[in-house]
Amino acid sequence: MKDLRDVIERIYNEVIPFSKQGKVADYIPALAEVNPEQLAIVVDTLDLEKFKVGDSEVPFSIQSISKVYALSMVASRLGEELWTSVGREPSGNPFNSLVQLEYEQGIPRNPFINAGALVVTDLLIDLYPRPKEALLEFVRKLAGNDDIYYDHRVANSERQNADRNMALAYFMKSFGNIHNDVETVIDVYCHQCSIAMSCSDLARSFLVFANKGVNPLNGERVLTESQSKRIGALMATCGFYDESGDFAYRVGLPGKSGVGGGIVAYMPGKLTMAVWSPALNSYGNSIAGIEAFERFTTSVKSSIF
Ligand code: GLN
Repeated sequence: MKDLRDVIERIYNEVIPFSKQGKVADYIPALAEVNPEQLAIVVDTLDLEKFKVGDSEVPFSIQSISKVYALSMVASRLGEELWTSVGREPSGNPFNSLVQLEYEQGIPRNPFINAGALVVTDLLIDLYPRPKEALLEFVRKLAGNDDIYYDHRVANSERQNADRNMALAYFMKSFGNIHNDVETVIDVYCHQCSIAMSCSDLARSFLVFANKGVNPLNGERVLTESQSKRIGALMATCGFYDESGDFAYRVGLPGKSGVGGGIVAYMPGKLTMAVWSPALNSYGNSIAGIEAFERFTTSVKSSIF
């Protein structure tokens, strides 16, 4: 593989103009205040080398990327039983859509759209007596950074504007697919989305998936090889909502985005990459982020396909 430092520095300069397109998420008021003129690219390799450029150490709100961590915690405890509550098919609809839920009897299409993530959060509450603490601890261990935190301002801001997620949760509760109090589920969900960490943390935390379920920082097995493969398959098919097909086409890596403007993806057995640029396209994915990933896999001539 070419010198990764040169590759990401070149891509960084090429995608700066894209970071000025699109707009930051504003349906969560605290996210609307983020300066869109920030850009970071980080690559971590499985032998723990790190290449970084731009605002790589600035913590930002990971939003839906947190759905991968919550799913990992639940999948590691529940195994196949999980799939009675949530599906594993791309939805082809926006991440916060309600339309499929009624005719699919309250079983969301996949764990990465909001409805599916709420089901996973509900299960997290069932499985872990202190779910918020357990989740933060899980993420800190994967990233090797105890400074990762919940941004309570972002959590409260989302909590005060959570009507749609509340509607999804109540609707699924009517089908018996949410067990806990909706207020509690939404509280944990808003906190999980508010996790603040840097691109550098993100890239490191996803090495576990590139490494078949073992955290390379401490050798701990976090997921079985099969669980890691399956979560990767979900990222490859559903990680970018109704833009998942296009991400597979243009980039060809399993990954996950969030409306904070972060994207993280990995090459199995090799490396992870995280990009942060807050301005989003209409699907809620970072415009410069997707451009950077497309240029990266084109440049290094490697993807999962
Ligand atoms: N917290 C956001 C929401 O529920 C997460 C969405 C996202 O990142 N796509 O709307």
